[in-house]
Amino acid sequence: MANPGHSGRPTRSMSELAERLRRESRRLTGPRQAILEVLRQHRRPLSNKEILELLPGDCDLATVYRAMHLLRRLGLVQRYDLGDGVARHELLAPDDDGHHHHLVCRRCARVVELEDCGLAAFEESLVARSGFTQVTHRLEFFGVCPDCQRAG
Ligand SMILES: [Zn+2]
Ligand SMILES: [Zn+2]
Repeated sequence: MANPGHSGRPTRSMSELAERLRRESRRLTGPRQAILEVLRQHRRPLSNKEILELLPGDCDLATVYRAMHLLRRLGLVQRYDLGDGVARHELLAPDDDGHHHHLVCRRCARVVELEDCGLAAFEESLVARSGFTQVTHRLEFFGVCPDCQRAG
C-alpha cells in the first residue's frame, strides 16, 4: 500500500521532458534541466525552497517558481498542499493522472505516497446523493512515522 521510495514507479526520461517543452516552444534551459533532474531524483512532493536547496549550481527562487509554474501548466508536475500552506510539486509519471494521497509525518515532514485511493465508492455515493457531477477530492493524512516514534 505505501511506497516510501517511489522506486517502483516509472518516470519520464530527460529527453521526453525536453521534447514536451520543445513542443510548447519552450527550451530546456540549464536551470529547467537542473530542476527536472532534482524532481526526477526526488520522487516526493518538494517545495520551491527544497528544490532550490537541492540544485547544484547558481539559481534563485524566482527561477524555480517560474519553472514550476510552466511545468504545472504543461501537466508535467502535480501540485500538492500538505496542510502547512506551502505548495509542493511532484513529477508526474506518464499516464499518471496524479491522483494519490500522502501520509505526512508531523515531526520530520517525511512524506509517504499512498498508492490506493480507496474513496471511489464514497465518491459514487456522493454523486448519487448530491446530484453533483465531476466530483473529485483532495485528502492528505498526517501522523508520526516509525523513526520519530523510536526517537521518542
Ligand atoms: Zn518522522
Ligand atoms: Zn483519492
